[in-house]
Amino acid sequence: MQYHSTRDNSISVSSAHAIEQGLSVEGGLFVPEEFPKVSLEEIEELAGKSYHERAYFVLSKFLTDFSEEDLKACIENAYTKEKFGTDAIAPVYKLNDRVYFLELWHGPTCAFKDMALQILPHFLTTSMKMMNEDKEIIILVATSGDTGKAALEGFKDVNGTRIIVFYPDNGVSEIQKLQMVTQRGNNVSVAAVKGNFDDAQNGVKKIFTDNEYKTLLARNGFKLSSANSINWGRLVPQIVYYFSAYADLLASKEIKAGDEINVVVPTGNFGNILASYYARKMGLPVKKFICASNENNVLTDFIKTGVYNKNRRFHTTISPSMDILISSNLERFLYDLSGCDDKIVTELMTKLSAEGEYEIPSDIKAKMQELFDADFCDDKETMAAIRKTFDESGYTMDTHTAVGKCVYDKYTARTGDTTKTVIASTASPFKFNQSVLIALEDYNAVAGKDEFELLEMLEKKSSLKVPQSLSELKDRTPIFDTVVEKDQMQNTVSDFLKVE
Ligand SMILES: *Cc1c(COP(=O)(O)O)cnc(C)c1O
Repeated sequence: MQYHSTRDNSISVSSAHAIEQGLSVEGGLFVPEEFPKVSLEEIEELAGKSYHERAYFVLSKFLTDFSEEDLKACIENAYTKEKFGTDAIAPVYKLNDRVYFLELWHGPTCAFKDMALQILPHFLTTSMKMMNEDKEIIILVATSGDTGKAALEGFKDVNGTRIIVFYPDNGVSEIQKLQMVTQRGNNVSVAAVKGNFDDAQNGVKKIFTDNEYKTLLARNGFKLSSANSINWGRLVPQIVYYFSAYADLLASKEIKAGDEINVVVPTGNFGNILASYYARKMGLPVKKFICASNENNVLTDFIKTGVYNKNRRFHTTISPSMDILISSNLERFLYDLSGCDDKIVTELMTKLSAEGEYEIPSDIKAKMQELFDADFCDDKETMAAIRKTFDESGYTMDTHTAVGKCVYDKYTARTGDTTKTVIASTASPFKFNQSVLIALEDYNAVAGKDEFELLEMLEKKSSLKVPQSLSELKDRTPIFDTVVEKDQMQNTVSDFLKVE
């Protein structure tokens, strides 16, 4: 299987190459040249298989240049019971006869980014080996919270890699900061940047584009790489769990082989929902994809009108991992919808960066609307959804999952569609404990309480156990206290790597 670029499909590289390089040279994203087909019989067989076996079944169809032994090692190192607390890895929770939550947050950082970031480091080191790259990989990450911690957990102690995470001094929650500054591992470093997320992001970008500095690093045996969500190695592991969810529903006789389901995904960068669309292209029986957004509803408007317009107010919401105005993975979707038309994709993406807006041709729009529905909800509706679901069925959702549930309820009220539906549950409620508790109790109940008191409160209220990775933060001593000026980030990298 070869990979083409969305902006130049004469480019053709192996999966190891696509994963090692991340982004194509002319700025496009790597996409598989075709989607391997899976039969209904094969899907039925998955019902009796473990998550590891399901993962191998799907991933081996895309990473055809990986040896069986290497790919199995990647899967076994990434998805362990020790890290995920369950052999199921991504279990399905039945809410009622129509609605199922696909819980993607049992990994070490309690959010769905673990599903990809636990395996990406193994893909990356395997790819480097295959490409005969002898340098050590240096992962640089600027984070607004979730991604930095998930990348640290994924890359910690992975041979041949080191990771440095920069977070904005006053731009992450207390628990997110604690998660990062107490990070253990022999190859990790964390620093706060005086400024906001954009300052941290710009600083990282500057280092990435400084050729002189990259040459200096290369002389010292280092090569920069990134772990961001446009890497094919982050997207492909997400296809697996949609097959796994369907297989679980077959195994528990909730559906019969061939029955179509709907999929609801709370969306930011359009990565997770794109993975479900790719699963359908391979043969998974899905009727509708329901794209759920918070008040940053640029995707809702896009799916309804065919016009993508990022020129709008940015909202800071209680589902912060979806506070995004440029959904980078949408580019792959447009490439697919347009029948692999790299000219159209280039044109639209150029327009997006020049004007912040583009409109897709009507034939592409019609194709999209056949399969995709979309809606959004604001913070108040998100809170109400958490409360209502808890009161009715005792299930506690985090704020992102609640956006999905709220939009699903709006969809069924509007359409009367009774198809069985899988909602992607993207974070543990404990990760966003304050908002969840305000929804379940009220503001007064959380006033003056610290993070650990809130965790305990939510444990009592929800009858769920606080994830150990969060409760143990209380007794951990911070290791990283570096705070740097935004124009000094390169020095932090040099200090960590001991280069001058
Ligand atoms: C990243 C994230 C999302 C959005 O996922 P995309 O793939 O960017 O659409 C949703 N929920 C949580 C908790 C996340 O961390």
